[in-house]
Amino acid sequence: MRTAQRIAELPPYLFAEIDRKKEAKQAQGIDVISLGIGDPDTPTPDRIVDAMAEAIRNPSNHQYPSYYGAKRYREACAQWMDRRFGVKVDANDETLALIGSKEGIAHIFLAFVDPGDYTLVPGCGYPVYHTGGILSGGLTHWMPMTEENGFLADFESTPADVLARAKMMFLSYPNNPTSAIATPEYFDRAIEFAREHDLLIIHDNAYSEIGFDGYKPPSFLERPGAKDVAIELFSCSKAYNMTGWRVAFAAGNATAIKALGTVKSNIDSGVFTAVQDAAIEALLGPQEVDELSALYQRRRDLVIDALAKIGLRAQMPKGTIYVWARIPEGYTSADFATKVLEEANVIVAPGNSYGPSGEGYIRISLATPDDRLEEAIARIEATL
Ligand SMILES: *Cc1c(COP(=O)(O)O)cnc(C)c1O
Repeated sequence: MRTAQRIAELPPYLFAEIDRKKEAKQAQGIDVISLGIGDPDTPTPDRIVDAMAEAIRNPSNHQYPSYYGAKRYREACAQWMDRRFGVKVDANDETLALIGSKEGIAHIFLAFVDPGDYTLVPGCGYPVYHTGGILSGGLTHWMPMTEENGFLADFESTPADVLARAKMMFLSYPNNPTSAIATPEYFDRAIEFAREHDLLIIHDNAYSEIGFDGYKPPSFLERPGAKDVAIELFSCSKAYNMTGWRVAFAAGNATAIKALGTVKSNIDSGVFTAVQDAAIEALLGPQEVDELSALYQRRRDLVIDALAKIGLRAQMPKGTIYVWARIPEGYTSADFATKVLEEANVIVAPGNSYGPSGEGYIRISLATPDDRLEEAIARIEATL
C-alpha cells in the first residue's frame, strides 16, 4: 500500500513528542497539567443543551441536512451579524453553514487554490492555514509577524513573484496564538491590498466574542468594501463553549461562499440539523459572552502577574483564551516547552508549532480551571 505524497509532506505534529512524554509521566502516576489546548473547560450553556434536546426529537431533523445550511440557521446567522456588528449579509447568498470553521478553512483551498498557487499565511497562526495548502497542492508564503509590528501579519513585504501566483490570504484577529488585535486601518490596508492583487481574504474570527477590558472584537466585514474581497468565519466553538458540537458559519463575498459550498456539497452533507437548531439558540438567545470573557480576563490577569514575577515577558491580551509569552534567552520554544514538561510537569504550547514567527514564544491556554492554572504557574516558577 502506498499513501499519497501529500501525507508525507505534512509537518510533524510538534505535540507528538510532548504527548509521548506526557503519557509516560502519567503512566508513572505523575500529575501533568496541560496549558496546551484551546478547548474551553466550562460546559455549553444549559439553554443551548435544552434546545438540542428538543431539536433531536424532531423527526424532520433526522434526514440529510441541507448542504448550505438550513434556511432558518442561515437567517439566524445573518440576524446575528446585524445585531452584533451592524453588518448586513444576505442569508441565502452570503452565508454558509460549516462543520466547525476548521472544515471551512481546509475546504476553501479546494475552491481557490490550484497546484502551485500561493496562499499568504500569518507567520504564526492556526495550523490548517498551512496544512490545508499542503493537502491541496498549494504553497504557503509565511507573512512575518513580529512583536514590533504588533503581530499584524506583514502582507506588504510579499515578493512580487509570490503575489503573481497568490490566490488567498488568511488573517485572524483577535489572534490565536499571539492574542494580538488589529486596527481598522490594518483591515483597510488588507482590503486595498487584496483588491490590488486579486486575492480572497479569509478572516478567521474564532474569538469574536472573547474580549477584555471592555474591548468588543469587530467583524472584518464592518470595513468598507470588505465584502468585495473577503469572507469571514465565525464559530460557536469558543464563543459558546461548543467545540465538540462542530458548528460554525462563513459570511461575506457571494462568489467565495458559492465556491466553498460547491466543494462542500461534493464532500460532506452539511451540519446535523438538530445542531443547527441548537446553534440558532446560541446565536439569538440570551448571550453569556460577557460572563465568559470575564472568566478568561480574570485568568489572564492571574497568569500575566505570575509570569511577570518570574521574569517572563508577555503580551497583555485584549481577547482570545491565550497568553503569548516570550521565553528566556538561551532556549528555543521547543527546548523551553520540554524543560517545563520535564521539570514542572506542565504542558505549554511551543510557539514555533504555529509557524516560523512563533519561535521564541510559548502559548499558555486560559481554558484551564483557576486552581490548576495557579498550580501550574507555581510549578513553573519553582523550576526557573
Ligand atoms: C479554535 C479555532 C478554530 C477552529 O474552530 P472550530 O469552529 O471548532 O473548527 C479556527 N481558528 C482558530 C484561530 C481557532 O483558534
